[in-house]
Amino acid sequence: MAIDFKKYIASIKDFPNEGIIFRDITPILQNGTAYRAATHELAEFAKSKGAEVIVGPEARGFIVGCPVANELGIGFVPARKPHKLPRAVKKASYDLEYGSNSLEMHIDAIKPGQKVVICDDLMATAGTLHATVKLVKELGGEVVGAAFYVELVDLKGVEKFSDIDIYSLVKYH
Ligand code: IMP
Repeated sequence: MAIDFKKYIASIKDFPNEGIIFRDITPILQNGTAYRAATHELAEFAKSKGAEVIVGPEARGFIVGCPVANELGIGFVPARKPHKLPRAVKKASYDLEYGSNSLEMHIDAIKPGQKVVICDDLMATAGTLHATVKLVKELGGEVVGAAFYVELVDLKGVEKFSDIDIYSLVKYH
């Protein structure tokens, strides 16, 4: 039977700032069946796009993306917050729904022409996705898709990516 993933997402009003409804995906992770099913759904999407490697932005992108890569038997590449990676990096900055940040990837993390699916827990304004796509492209990879547990539809992140197929388990308006 298909899982209703919305049952495993907690909505917290006014977190971290007033007026924001925070969608908390940790109940999915706490439930072995739900976590495995969510991983499987994203893995099926990534497989359908011909993914050769999964890229996940720090930190929840690791939790979402690593098991997807593992299920498909392909590699995982982290996009990390500044000064965490020990070798030469490329860097991209972006605005968040609340605040701003930067991500870095090792310059040799992606092979030329490698097909990449980006995984993260949630897409809001898509600033994080935009920065991750930019890094992957600069490293010579091809972004063939992006997959999330949650999409905040009203923030219209999808509209920023006409050329990338975006998949999500759950959408909130
Ligand atoms: P975006 O860059 O605006 O798309 O924001 C997405 C990033 O911020 C993701 O990496 C999320 O982990 C985090 N984020 C933004 N809003 C929420 C939320 O309501 N719940 C959980 N994470 C969020």
